[in-house]
Amino acid sequence: MSITASVDTTIQLIARGELEGDTCTPDLVEAPWEFDSLLPSYGPGASMADPIPAAAPRQGELPEEYRTASPEELHDRIMAAKATLGDRVVTLGHFYQRDEVVQYADFVGDSFQLANAAKAKPEAEAIVFCGVHFMAETADIISRPEQAVILPNLAAGCSMADMADIDSVTECWEQLEALYGTEPDAQGRVPVIPVTYMNSSAALKGFCGEHGGIVCTSSNAETVLKWALERGQRVLFFPDQHLGRNTAKAMGVPVEQMPLWNPRKAFGGNDVETLSDARVILWHGFCSVHKRFTVGQIEQARAEHPGVRVIVHPECPMPVVDAADEYGSTDYIVKAIQAAPAGSTFAIGTEINLVQRLAAEYPQHTIFCLDAVVCPCSTMYRIHPGYLAWVLEGLVHGEVLNRITVPADVAVPARVALERMLAARPDTTMAA
Ligand code: SF4
Repeated sequence: MSITASVDTTIQLIARGELEGDTCTPDLVEAPWEFDSLLPSYGPGASMADPIPAAAPRQGELPEEYRTASPEELHDRIMAAKATLGDRVVTLGHFYQRDEVVQYADFVGDSFQLANAAKAKPEAEAIVFCGVHFMAETADIISRPEQAVILPNLAAGCSMADMADIDSVTECWEQLEALYGTEPDAQGRVPVIPVTYMNSSAALKGFCGEHGGIVCTSSNAETVLKWALERGQRVLFFPDQHLGRNTAKAMGVPVEQMPLWNPRKAFGGNDVETLSDARVILWHGFCSVHKRFTVGQIEQARAEHPGVRVIVHPECPMPVVDAADEYGSTDYIVKAIQAAPAGSTFAIGTEINLVQRLAAEYPQHTIFCLDAVVCPCSTMYRIHPGYLAWVLEGLVHGEVLNRITVPADVAVPARVALERMLAARPDTTMAA
């Protein structure tokens, strides 16, 4: 399959038979609002088979004028709204957003880079976050209270973040306290430190803040785990088992000392002896985008492209990370490509929108996604220029649509956990 600049264009060309290739579902050719009024689901893309919690936010129907507008009309309306709003609004675009949205972003990056980017525009009354729900929550936690954080489509959640909810984690915590007690050991280490990945709800960040825990990103997970294991005999890591396992394994923690916690079973499905030996207890969560990558794909890339450099994201399963040449956050992947000599060949294991954009931006290299089947993140896909035009024009008319607000009783402890992360390594390069 040849590379084009936009994943959306690629999907449409494949659907029309004008480009060879496969998508994971024909539904990807539809506009995201086609799914807003159906039964709750993550919609087409990598998470389409994941069960969605009943309480997941839903998006009401987008007004017809935005659903029926041509791409050219939406472009003109977005540009006009941005010009009218000027510095009153800052628009953020995550690396995994479609190019048709990223083109309007004032900043493009990973989740924490973007949350911090909003701080660079303190005069902005509104932060329009083209990303997913937990990212907008984080931006709300660290932005000024007067700034409104807007998520253009409320159905843009994250299936991985949804795999750990505050009730299940609290229940797990109570079982661990019953097992380990609450007293520190002779070295002053408490029985368990909770660590949450940035890709989690604000409630879980708040939980970590209240229980001596911390937040990590895919860039600083090792630094944060070291911090936690200095203060605790073991770590409870949620929601992504793969980031936790890959990071702890690289630090020398034996895989046998990393039991998986299944929230639907007593003691997570583990026996007492296993939990007593545990160093890192891994929540049963995963990213359906990164779970698609396989060792077989890496073998095929090596066979077809001798000398290829295989870089995968640490949300990939352990055998994939082990088989790759390197692994790292989105920021790591971007910097590795930027620093490579012209003529390099990369097989990348992360979301297709970023990989395809990098291929277009760095034509001096050969860059392709390890997975030949086009299957974007379902929830990132829920943001479309139609929603962006709707929320921006709402601001022009003095209406704040789709505001994401984290209540103070959650935001205050969540900020504590985020500040511990920053203090663990002040020059942290963020990614998620
Ligand atoms: S790529 Fe994975 S972790 Fe990121 S938003 Fe999509 S489902 Fe969530």
